[in-house]
Amino acid sequence: MSERAYFDWNATAPLRPEARDAMIAALALTGNASSVHGEGRAARQVIEIARQKVAHLMGCEAKNVTFTSGATEANMLALTPTLEAGGRKALRDKLFFSAIEHPSVRSGGRFPAETQEELTVTHAGLLDLHALRSAVARAERPLVSVMLANNETGVIQPIVEIAAIVHEAGGLLHVDAVQGAGRIDCDLATLGADLLSISAHKLGGPQGIGALVRRGDIHIGAPLITGGGQERSLRAGTENVAAIAGFGAAAAAAAAARQADAARMAQLRDQLEARLLAMTPDAVIFGAEALRLPNTTLIAVPGIKAETALIAFDLAGIALSSGSACSSGRVQTSHVLAAMGVEPDLARGALRLSLGWSTTQDDVESLLNAWNTVISSLRKRHASAA
Ligand code: PMP
Repeated sequence: MSERAYFDWNATAPLRPEARDAMIAALALTGNASSVHGEGRAARQVIEIARQKVAHLMGCEAKNVTFTSGATEANMLALTPTLEAGGRKALRDKLFFSAIEHPSVRSGGRFPAETQEELTVTHAGLLDLHALRSAVARAERPLVSVMLANNETGVIQPIVEIAAIVHEAGGLLHVDAVQGAGRIDCDLATLGADLLSISAHKLGGPQGIGALVRRGDIHIGAPLITGGGQERSLRAGTENVAAIAGFGAAAAAAAAARQADAARMAQLRDQLEARLLAMTPDAVIFGAEALRLPNTTLIAVPGIKAETALIAFDLAGIALSSGSACSSGRVQTSHVLAAMGVEPDLARGALRLSLGWSTTQDDVESLLNAWNTVISSLRKRHASAA
């Protein structure tokens, strides 16, 4: 394959070299981390060092990090009525989540269907805080789940403000921090969240590993998987030592480079957007009026369908996405754009360009060259078909 430019970091990021090295070293180990012999203790040590690194990135204590198979599973672990704070033993009676959450949150986790409720977002893609206030007032012990940043638009939610509203109403706040981790500040205490979900493969770790982190006084009453008691009995099963080692190394590398990377990505992304709009002035960038991640652009050109454009870009050596990887492949308009009130015809053209720490100016030039050719040829085709 000739040189390609990768603009799909929100679907998955390339493995960081630090993560690859840590994984290769861990694969050489033999022990089961639950065994008492030296081999077992060596595996345990790798896991606990990685746990500390993840805890450092998220601003929590290592003992409050639970490794899972990814953020989907972390969300399932968090969204349970048996969540308690400060030792109170009473079931959460309601789960509220925003209309733009990832499907793993919108499916409601372990809450009965009749106790789940979706909250509206504004045209800018921000949670409607009036809707949140009145919702939490209608429940006795609500659990609210809101993402830190949206995977399609990159829009960042005002988590500090949301946390204050939820806590004032006696509720707990779970934040799906998958797209924010390693890109913006994800400190548990600064955000004011009670629980945060993260996924290694979005920050340069391997796929298939993630974590739920929580405040010290939060107790999860119902384990997700029962068995051998691993992960403090919350998620049984022999640990994936190599994946955990890679996750830890990626978390440390992401934490060290976050500010410099974010500034560089924002500069490239802003330049990219300005030049795309100069080439196609009728293009629309979604969520642009809100605060966004430094690496994400969701853009549509009226009259152009995303499925067709994606194939043309792929042939031109550019990997991008039509929205979240989980919903592309299915020809469906984005639930995120629908919730933001975007016209279905325009939403069908939404292309997501997401950058990362190794994106270069040359990648941006390749994308802009391809944009010029692809969009004008699709427009010609569209005009002759009309
Ligand atoms: N939440 C968000 C916001 C995501 O973008 C994703 C991944 N697309 C997930 C959760 C699920 O993460 P994982 O792939 O680790 O299951």
